[in-house]
Amino acid sequence: MTVTVESEPALRTVSGRRLRDLVLDRTGDAGLAHEVDVVSQVLPFKVSSYVVQELIDWDRAPDDAMYRLLFPHRDMLLPDDFAAVELAMRTQDRAGLRQTVDAVRDRLNPHPGDQLALNVPQEEDADGWGLQHKYHETLLVFPRQGQTCHSYCGYCFRWAQFVDRSDLRLAVSGPEVMTAHLRRHPEITDVLLTGGDPLVMRTELIEQYLRPLLRPEHDTVQTVRIGTKAVSFWPHRVLAGREADELLRLLSALVDAGKHVALMLHLSHPAELDTDAARAALRRLAGTGAVLRSQAPVVRHVNDDPDVWAQLWKDQVRNGVVPYYMFVERDTGARRYFGLPLARALEIYRGAIKGLSGLGRSARGPVMSASPGKVAIDGVVNLHNGPAFALRFLQHRNPELVGRPFHARFDAEAQWWNDLRPYGEHDREFFGGAA
Ligand code: SF4
Repeated sequence: MTVTVESEPALRTVSGRRLRDLVLDRTGDAGLAHEVDVVSQVLPFKVSSYVVQELIDWDRAPDDAMYRLLFPHRDMLLPDDFAAVELAMRTQDRAGLRQTVDAVRDRLNPHPGDQLALNVPQEEDADGWGLQHKYHETLLVFPRQGQTCHSYCGYCFRWAQFVDRSDLRLAVSGPEVMTAHLRRHPEITDVLLTGGDPLVMRTELIEQYLRPLLRPEHDTVQTVRIGTKAVSFWPHRVLAGREADELLRLLSALVDAGKHVALMLHLSHPAELDTDAARAALRRLAGTGAVLRSQAPVVRHVNDDPDVWAQLWKDQVRNGVVPYYMFVERDTGARRYFGLPLARALEIYRGAIKGLSGLGRSARGPVMSASPGKVAIDGVVNLHNGPAFALRFLQHRNPELVGRPFHARFDAEAQWWNDLRPYGEHDREFFGGAA
């Protein structure tokens, strides 16, 4: 079926107290609405009208997977923290509530993976705030106007970007910060525009970041990536209207100039591709010559099922998307609600790929994007001293450690890199110790 839309409809979003009202209205469950109210004081939540109408199966809420992905649940907070916020709300003391909420946020590890300490460039006379240069060849750029999304995922590892605390927010003040850094670092071949979601920005602003990359002085940049969940949360962004058309023209211009343009689509569940609008958005994006790739974390309550991933990857291949990464949920925010043991994530990955054709098996996973680098969990093996996780760095701050197999002691409960211990002496160097 072809979607014919003359112009982009206005984006309407629901957040704050209106989120509670929406849940009450749609489910009639006052207890559920109260939980929404309490948890959303701490973690950011917002849904677009498209998500409310097209993606949530309200007859199944709160057990619908997309509801779980997008709406607050009391188990996202520790019981004591939930009670403390609830109490502070009841006393109606704004300063007290603010203090309680800040304290809870600080306990939720707002910047995992040492993002602020290690990844922000610290160069004399340079404003690197809003850039991340973790790997030699890749620069992440967080444009100030792109630090929001059309809706928020409950498991977002960048949730701190969306709360009203400027000390927790990475945001670059303008494109000249990016271009100055690129001039100083000709080794950078890949620029990743990220957020939030850069596609919340007007096309004119996106253009201010991407057009300069067409200048000869930036020939060193071969690949332009844009991280986005707009296809899932607001496909109208690329479907019709001047903003959409100009964006597609910009992507085509980059492709025509010889850049590799990759749309890094965040796709968590098959429901996100099960609308005419989403499929039409994919066709339009692919028509620019950009490559569409997908990534998402494997999380409890949403996609912790091999059949869900198998369906998701099949649907992606059918719609021209290359499965790229299955990530592990990071150690931040609502991880206590969404997180899974690494051993379970591995079972889900293997269960999902075993019935797929080669094209559906292109996603690497499960992968932790941890402080030292991206670590793939390749399997569980039995060695002389007992079972071990077989691991491999796909990327590392030290390129010498990339691609070499190593082992960690098997731990059925381990959920993250920090929970793992080297299996033997020769594994220590991968964990930051001497070989
Ligand atoms: S789309 Fe990405 S950045 Fe935005 S809320 Fe979801 S996970 Fe976070």
